[in-house]
Amino acid sequence: MELALLESFENYIDAHIIAGRLENEGIQCWLKDENTVTVTPFFSNAVGGIKLMVAADQVEQAKQLLHQFLMEKKSNLACPYCGSHDIELLPSDKPMNMLGAIGTWLVGRYAISTDNEWTCYNCQKKFKEPVDTSKEGQGGEEQNS
Ligand SMILES: [Zn+2]
Repeated sequence: MELALLESFENYIDAHIIAGRLENEGIQCWLKDENTVTVTPFFSNAVGGIKLMVAADQVEQAKQLLHQFLMEKKSNLACPYCGSHDIELLPSDKPMNMLGAIGTWLVGRYAISTDNEWTCYNCQKKFKEPVDTSKEGQGGEEQNS
């Protein structure tokens, strides 16, 4: 079967969550380079992270679903300052190249790309953690397949 690259992830948790959701929608998924990344997270950038591969003839459908998941996720997140949902996770101003990654590694931080920041387009503020509005007013029900 022919495979196509859908998306690269920097950690296996994200990759597994997305792969699981796509499989629920009938998309066949494979995770490539997963072992390399898990064993040596420092080289995550070098190998391009974990690649989520899908069947080539399902890639368009998978892209749409992926977009939908991201929109769903985003629609639950709000700016902690003004409550706007018009927010986006952006890389911080610092360029993260291999040299930066090595520096990050040398000072003992595990994750390479923790320098992303959320930006609110409404109030222009930047923040590390958006408010998850999906947790409000729920009876703690988790969907399990
Ligand atoms: Zn705001």
